[in-house]
Formats: sequence, C-alpha cells, structure tokens
Amino acid sequence: MPHSVTDTTTPASHPTASDTSGRTDALHSVPTGLYIDGVWRESSDASTIAVENPATGRTLLDIASATPTDGAAALDAAVAAADDWARTSPRHRGEILRRAFDLLTERAEHFATLITLEMGKPLAQARGEVAYGAEFFRWYSEESVRIDGRWSTSPDGKSRLMTMRQPVGPTLMITPWNFPLAMGTRKIGPAIAAGCTMVIKPASQTPLTMLALADLMTEVGVPAGVLNVIPTRTSGAVMTPLITDPRLRKLTFTGSTPVGKDLIRQSAEQVLRVSMELGGNAPFLVFEDADIEAAVDGAMLAKMRNMGEACTAANRFLVHQSVADDFAALLAQKMTAERLGAGIDDGVTVGPLIDDKQRRKVAELVTDAVDRGADLTVGGERIDGPGYFYTPTVLTNVQPGSAVLREEIFGPVAPIATFTDDDDAIARANDTEYGLAAYAFTASTARTIKVAESLDFGMIGINQGIISNAAAPFGGMKHSGFGREGGPEGIAEYVETKYIGINPLDATVRNSHTDAR
Ligand code: NAP
Repeated sequence: MPHSVTDTTTPASHPTASDTSGRTDALHSVPTGLYIDGVWRESSDASTIAVENPATGRTLLDIASATPTDGAAALDAAVAAADDWARTSPRHRGEILRRAFDLLTERAEHFATLITLEMGKPLAQARGEVAYGAEFFRWYSEESVRIDGRWSTSPDGKSRLMTMRQPVGPTLMITPWNFPLAMGTRKIGPAIAAGCTMVIKPASQTPLTMLALADLMTEVGVPAGVLNVIPTRTSGAVMTPLITDPRLRKLTFTGSTPVGKDLIRQSAEQVLRVSMELGGNAPFLVFEDADIEAAVDGAMLAKMRNMGEACTAANRFLVHQSVADDFAALLAQKMTAERLGAGIDDGVTVGPLIDDKQRRKVAELVTDAVDRGADLTVGGERIDGPGYFYTPTVLTNVQPGSAVLREEIFGPVAPIATFTDDDDAIARANDTEYGLAAYAFTASTARTIKVAESLDFGMIGINQGIISNAAAPFGGMKHSGFGREGGPEGIAEYVETKYIGINPLDATVRNSHTDAR
C-alpha cells in the first residue's frame, strides 16, 4: 500500500507544535497494510484508518483497516502455524526474542519517534517506553528455556505424578493507545517464549508502532503466521467472531474496564482462557514522616508520565494534614515548571492528550471538583488551537464525593485530599472498585509493612513513583482485572499445565517395618 505522509506542515497558531523537525521521515518506512501470514496486504474492502497526530490534529498516515474477513484470515494463519511453532525449541524461540531485543534497542530512536508522533508523549518518555518495551523481549528470551514441569510420588506411593507445560495455542491480543509498543511487547514476549501464535489488534489511534514492530519481528526470524497484526476501525465487528471462534485458545486484553467486561462476557462462549489488564484509580499516600521532596518527585513521576494517561497513574493524593501544605506548594511549583507542547520538540515535558474527548472528560472532572469546593491551585486550562493540550493542574482541598477521586482521570490533574489517621487513609485508599497500583511515602518500616499488607492493589510502590519492571508481575485486582504480565509469572498466562499420572506397575508400597517383612 502506498504511503501518504500528510503531516508535514507546522500548524500556524500553535505555540510549540511542529512536525517539521525532519522526524516525520520516520513514517516513510512504516508498513501501512495488514500483516497476515507473513504478507502485507490491503484490507478486503479497501477501507482505511487515518492515524492522527494528537499534537496537531493532522493525519500522519492512512493505513489499512481490517474487516471480519481479514480477521478470519489472520486467525486461520495463526491456527495453521500453531503446531510447527509449538514444536520449535525453547532456545530457538529465546534467540529470536534476544535478536528482537537487540534490534529494537538499536532502532530505539525510530520507534520512539513513531510513538511520539501517534500518541503524543514527549520524546524522552517515548525513549523510556522503547527501553521498557524491549526489556520484555530480553526477559522472556531468558525465560523461554526455563519453562519446567515436575515429577513427584503420590502421597499413597502408588503413582508417579508428572506435570508438563505446553503452549496454550492461538492467542488474540488487544492493546490500548497509551503505550503503543510496551503493551504489545508485554504480551508478545511471553507468547513467543511459550510457543504460542498470535493475532494482534493494536488501538486504532496508535497502530503505526505495532506495524513497524511486525516488520522487525519478521527480520529477526519470526515465521509466517506466528505473528499477525490487524488494526481495524471496527473493533467489535472484527474481534467478536474471533473471540467466539473455537480455534482461538486465549484472549489477552489491555484497556478500559467497560470494554474488558464486555470481552469477558464474550469469552464465556468458548470458555476462553482470559487475561485482563484494565483501568486503575491509584491512591498516592503521603504520611507525616515522609521525605516531602522525595514524595513530590515520586508524585511527578506517578502523575505526569504519559501526561497522566497511564493505568498506574496516581489518581488521588491522600496527604497527612500536617504536611499537606508543603506537599501541595512544592507539587504546584513543579507542575508550573513543566513545558507543554508537541512531544517531538526539544525540551517539552508534557504533550497533548490523545483526543478532544479525553480532554473534555478531564476538564469536566476539574469543573466538578471545583464546584464541590476544591481550590484550583494551578492549571485547569485547555489550550485552544490544534492539538489536545491541557495544562498541568493541582487541586487542593478536594471534597469527598468529587468524581475526580472516583474515576480514572487519564490526564495531568493532581487532586489532593488530607487525612489525620492512618487507618482512615488506608480505608479511603481501598474505597474504589479498582485495584491496580498504589503508592505510599513513609520513613517507617512498620508503616511500610502495614500499608503493603492492607492495600487491596496488585502493585504497591513504597517511596517510589514508578513500579513497572519487566522482571515484576504487573497486574491488578477487583475491576482492574486478573492475570499478570512480566516476571516469571507472566509466562504462566501462555501455557497449559498438563498432568500425567503414571502407575509404575511393579512398585511395592511398604508403609511400616511390618509391611516390609
Ligand atoms: P479501550 O477503549 O478499552 O480500548 C482498548 C483496546 O480495545 C483498543 O485496541 C480498542 O480498539 C479495543 N476495543 C474497543 N472496543 C472494543 C470492542 N467492542 N471489542 C474489541 N475490542 C475493542 O481503552 P483505551 O482507551 O485504548 O485505553 C485506556 C484504558 O486502558 C484505560 O482505562 C487504562 O487504565 C487501561 N490500561 C490498562 C493497563 C493495565 O495494564 N492494567 C495498561 C494500559 C492501559 P479501538 O482503538 O479500535 O477502539
């Protein structure tokens, strides 16, 4: 499919946005077709998706949009390749992943540029995403040779118990727009290590990075049919037939809780193996003994990475009354010092939000909090002009019942509420249907243990504002989902455990000296 790079001019009225830095050249090498069975093809009805730059509102590239017919072809390919791929050696798959890590690292600047252009985050953060995303390839290149089983004797001594772990089979992967690379590699790495084939549907707003990754995976030796990529602008129509197809063996989804619930319902049809990485509402607790400067540094990372568009983003700041003014003043100072603009430009630290709908939602949450009595300390403005910019915002004195404390904000807004009693703070932190990430800052070991044991969240950061790590199990509780990605735990999502009971036939069981005689 021919390329149509259309975003090459600087929008006239925007203060910082510019795509003229030569970086749009990165788009020229991005494949614009569907990747099915090792071949790039057009959509069966020639439909396309216009991929937009959220910093300018302009189209970056037109790419093919899969139809249900294309979806079926992708699953056909994944099913056809499954047996041969499952029989490849663990070392072979590990070496493919290692080459993918090396090549992705070598091409980090190219991938970071694509991420920034289609998603909006500042280039420095996009580089961080590439490094983080590549780590899943390195980690699982090492794990592929450690998929083990066990051998034991049954308690009554009459049988031998053997377990083995085999690839679960063809897997459907649906990923969101906020980390266009890493949300994919977190699934692809363990799936390849385990010997599964896959159909990947990236978010329609950010498919370019995944299309470029498909090219790279072919280059490092992933065979035809093992990895298929089908962006589509009709997600429901294309995904439902795949989810209900008896040949599909697993669905792994990262995205919002409402869509996740719908997909869980659909997956009941075939009793599909399911992993769900859903939304969050992370509390960020600052106790009276915390190092306030460190807490504010941690808050900036936990809140502002990805402009707040992260499932692990600190959503509610609960700060002890005695340190709340200092914390809020320093946080407001740091938020004011952030530089808003197109992520592709040097020195920019806060990019645009993904679209106007998201920006309107953020603005409504701020208005609701202020209407209920919160003080707008800094920010609270949407910037007119092309792109979807919203200023870094701090709200203090946020009242219970405000929507901003309950809903996932997904924007650069820090609402601060206070507490005077630890138990009350922990109870309020747990008062949410979500259970993904939580943060706490304290100098006390006793508080650390109490907080870690009492918070109902899958991941807890103590005195640190970033918790994601390829070596650690990422995942949530409650409405934040189930299953884990990363670490040794991550591979369990892509294998079936099979048990074989073996009767030794000639074994004699002796339970006492009397039996032995
Ligand atoms: P989303 O709207 O749920 O979309 C996620 C993916 O699902 C996209 O690829 C989307 O495709 C697809 N999709 C939407 N409707 C579908 C349907 N009916 N059938 C099949 N697929 C469908 O979420 P998002 O706005 O992209 O991402 C933000 C959300 O992801 C937030 O809630 C965030 O917390 C969550 N998230 C969670 C984690 C985690 O690990 N827990 C990590 C990152 C993000 P289209 O693009 O075509 O709509």
